[in-house]
Amino acid sequence: MSENELKTTSALKGIGVSPGIVIGRAYALNRKDIKETLYKLSGDESVSREIKRFKKSLIDSRQELLDIQTELKDRQGIGSLFVDVHIMILDDKTFTTDIVKNIQDHSVNAEWALKMTISRQREIFDKIEDEYLRERIRDVECVGQRILRNLSGKTHERVSDIEGEVVIVARDLSPTDTVQMSTRKILGFATDMGGKTSHTAIVAKSIGIPAVVGLERITGEVSTGDAIIVDGTAGVVIVNPDPEVIKRYEDKKRHYLAMEEDMLKGAHLPAETIDGHRVGVGANIEFIEEIPSAVFHGANGVGLYRTEFIYINREQLPTEEEHFFNYKKVIEGEGIKWATIRTFDLGGDKFVSDAGLAEEMNPVMGLRAIRFCLQEVELFKVQLRAILRASAYGNTGILLPMISGVKEIIDARNIIDEVKGELISEGIPIDEDIKIGIMIEVPSAVIMAKQLAEKADFFSIGTNDLIQYALAIDRVNERVTYLYEPLHPAILTMLKQVVDAGHKAGIKVAMCGEMAGDPLCTPILLGLALDGLSMTPLAIPRVKKIIRKSTVSESKKLLERVMTLSTAREIEECVRAYMIERFPECCPVDWQTT
Ligand code: PEP
Ligand code: MG
Repeated sequence: MSENELKTTSALKGIGVSPGIVIGRAYALNRKDIKETLYKLSGDESVSREIKRFKKSLIDSRQELLDIQTELKDRQGIGSLFVDVHIMILDDKTFTTDIVKNIQDHSVNAEWALKMTISRQREIFDKIEDEYLRERIRDVECVGQRILRNLSGKTHERVSDIEGEVVIVARDLSPTDTVQMSTRKILGFATDMGGKTSHTAIVAKSIGIPAVVGLERITGEVSTGDAIIVDGTAGVVIVNPDPEVIKRYEDKKRHYLAMEEDMLKGAHLPAETIDGHRVGVGANIEFIEEIPSAVFHGANGVGLYRTEFIYINREQLPTEEEHFFNYKKVIEGEGIKWATIRTFDLGGDKFVSDAGLAEEMNPVMGLRAIRFCLQEVELFKVQLRAILRASAYGNTGILLPMISGVKEIIDARNIIDEVKGELISEGIPIDEDIKIGIMIEVPSAVIMAKQLAEKADFFSIGTNDLIQYALAIDRVNERVTYLYEPLHPAILTMLKQVVDAGHKAGIKVAMCGEMAGDPLCTPILLGLALDGLSMTPLAIPRVKKIIRKSTVSESKKLLERVMTLSTAREIEECVRAYMIERFPECCPVDWQTT
């Protein structure tokens, strides 16, 4: 009897953040959060000693991060933006001065002073509605743990010290841990904590290793050397599986890999239907780190570069140079032939440093995106200058978010023209014919599509918001998720109206909401004759394969048929049945059983 058979099997469900299956040996990364204890300081001398001790911990923490960057650059030629973010937090004067002030004002030790500052920041982040932005507190907490560890003088196990092909099991991993996995033979990871939009998750996806987070008690179930299965697609982790389960997962893994391989085989072919309709397929990205994964999965362009990240986790607004550096990197990314850069979709309340500035009852409908830019013109111009400068380095488009009517695009275009004029008179090269597109993501923009098409060079439909506003479904409220239906007849009617208006005016209509990457929607989007689809990189191979096996004429017929149905459920069933019959090899495994 083998050792594993003596151990009890346990299966845990978490959040699958990076797909794929790994069957291997666990490595329990021994990391305990350091708890802060309070002690009071007496006298000025001990206060200044404590400040010195704190400052030394900052220097040590910074050095550790610089060492990680150096190692990454040595091994893979490029550092990581996520490590830079942690360095930026350490360098953030408001953050560090606040801690020093706590030491002075409350005569408390550095650990406690740090805890006070982070608790305050957590309160600010907790108020942010957007899940992604709210989760950015994790970066601050990771940096906090690093400082605490240096204050305590304890060392902790580093991912870069791990040898061998293992699956890491840890309470939590910071993005700086995950980036180091790219240079090691780490097969996958499973953690107690974490959410689907964490930077750790993004890195896992970009380096392509299966990962499940948010398992709550995986560290209590696993010891180093235990057999472990991580199913990043289903979000399941099995510890000490019995031979029967291992066999089942080996089959599942084989099946998954064969399917992946088959999809990937054609991923670099053009997305062209049998009857010759070509769809421009791009990737939605947020970080330059995601470019290699996008290209690997078959994108030759970036259909949506979300730029909000450049603004968050920082005290000062980004400079034109910082913007420019990012945009140029995307435009010049290896394998990238075109890029659509969306101007930022943040509101005043979303700036962490100014969180108290503009508290709004309903920020998603508040002063955000283009509305904010048209009020804060100088700030908008900084970003526009950088995009325009970057446009000299490759095929670039500007995408304006949340346009709700004609005046907004006229105003935005005037500002863009002004900035263009300034750059030209300064002798700075730009693409003078840069295309300016708008997101169609507000119902009024659908109604005004005809008029908007006269002012825009292209449309990109943002279904994430469009569905939210059209069906009155908060996109992050789990209680109404069941009503969030991309194939709702009302949504299809709106999409048709937008595509028709765009085409009538002779402009291209693309889609960059999640719907673009949902294979169940692909035949419908083809029937609508969308010109471009931009999606999360991992979705590209399957969508491209469906496109290549389809004809527009057949898809149009399918669209006509579903337009006679009156519920999303009926439409879904109809499309699914069509796809299972027409191209079963493109259908996700779980469809066959539902
Ligand atoms: C959308 O709304 O569909 C979209 C692509 O933008 P975001 O998800 O960033 O709001
Ligand atoms: Mg949107």
